[in-house]
Amino acid sequence: MEFGTDQLNTFDTFTLDCWKDRVYYEGQSFPAGYFAAEILNFAGEADDPILEHIIALPPLVSQAAALKKDGGRDVLAQLRPLMHKAVSWICTCPPFCCGDVEFAWREFNQAMDGDCFDRDCDISEDHLPYRLLMFSDQILKILVSIYNFCLLIRAFEKRYLRRLKRRTESEFAKAAHTCFDLDNDFLDITDRMPFGEMEEFFSFPRLISGFSYLQDPHDKEKWISVQQVICKRLIDFYVFDLQNGFQHGHGPSFCQNCHRYFLTTTAHVPKYCDGMAPQDHRLTCRQYGAMMHQKEQNKQHPVYRLFSTRTNTIRKHHQRGKISDELRREALYLAETYRDRALMDNDYAAGDYVHDMEQETLYAQARARLAQEDKP
Ligand SMILES: [Zn+2]
Repeated sequence: MEFGTDQLNTFDTFTLDCWKDRVYYEGQSFPAGYFAAEILNFAGEADDPILEHIIALPPLVSQAAALKKDGGRDVLAQLRPLMHKAVSWICTCPPFCCGDVEFAWREFNQAMDGDCFDRDCDISEDHLPYRLLMFSDQILKILVSIYNFCLLIRAFEKRYLRRLKRRTESEFAKAAHTCFDLDNDFLDITDRMPFGEMEEFFSFPRLISGFSYLQDPHDKEKWISVQQVICKRLIDFYVFDLQNGFQHGHGPSFCQNCHRYFLTTTAHVPKYCDGMAPQDHRLTCRQYGAMMHQKEQNKQHPVYRLFSTRTNTIRKHHQRGKISDELRREALYLAETYRDRALMDNDYAAGDYVHDMEQETLYAQARARLAQEDKP
C-alpha cells in the first residue's frame, strides 16, 4: 500500500498521513506544514471576497428551508449559482486542489436539486430538506475555517515568524508558545473573531489519530509506522499541519517580492520565494530580488552616482531646450562610455573620470565629435 492512499477525504472529514518530516494526502507527498502555509494565500484580507459567500449563503438557506414546498425551490434557484461559486473556489484551495473533488460536485448536485429538495420536504410535515442543510453547513464551515485560520495565522506570521533570526524547531516552538499561550492581544483577536463561535481556533487541534504499519517503500525488508490524523473540522487540519511542520523546522514565510506565503524547510531566513517574479516571468523572485539588490548597490557606487547626476542634468537641459536632441544623444553616449571604462579601470576612475564627466567638458567633447561627423 502506498502512503496516503487509505484515506477518507470529504467536506467534513480531512485526513493526513505523517511520516518523519513529510505528510501524505490522497497519495501525494508534501513537506510537513505545506497546507498551512499555502492556504494563507487564499484569504485573510480585511475585506476579503470570501466574506461575501459567508454572509450571502446562510439567509438563503434558511429561507429555502422555511418555505419548503411553498416557494423553497425558487430560493434554491437563487442559491444555486452562489453555492456553485463557493464550491468552485473551495476546490482551488489546498488540500482540496490536491485530490479528487468529484464527491463535492455529486453532493452539490443532490443538495441543489429541486426534485430532491421536494422529496426531502415530503417525507413528513415537519421534515427538513436535510441534504440542502447538511451540504450548506459543510460549505459554510469550510469557508469560515479558511477565513479564521488565515486571519489569525497571518497575524502570527507577521508578528512572530517574520522576525525570527533562524527558522528552527526551537525558534518556532518559542514563537508558538509566546503567541498562542501568552500574547493577550492574540488571545483577544481569537475571542473577537467575527465567525469565531462557528469554527473556533484552538492551538490544540481536535483530531482522531492512529497508526498504520507499512513496508518502507525504499526498503521492503523494513517496516514503518505511519501516523494517520483525521480531523472533522478543516481549521484543525490546518492547525495540526502548521504545528507538525514546526516540529520539523518547517514554517510559513512571506515573500517580500510577490507577497505570497510559502513554506521554508531550512533554518535559513529567506527574503524571497522560488516562484516566478510577477515583474518578470523569466526570473524567480529570488533572482529578481538579487538583481534589484545589485541595482540598489550600484546606485551607491561613486562611478554610478556621478554618472546619474550628469545624465540627469543632460536630460533636464534637453527638456528646457538648452541643448539639441543630437547633442543630448551624443553626450549620453559619451557619459556611458566613460562610466563603463571607469568600472573596468580603477586608475581611470580615481583620475580622469571626474574631469571627463564635468558638464562642460562632456558637451565640448560631444560637440567636437558631432563636428567630426558632419565633415564631408
Ligand atoms: Zn515570491
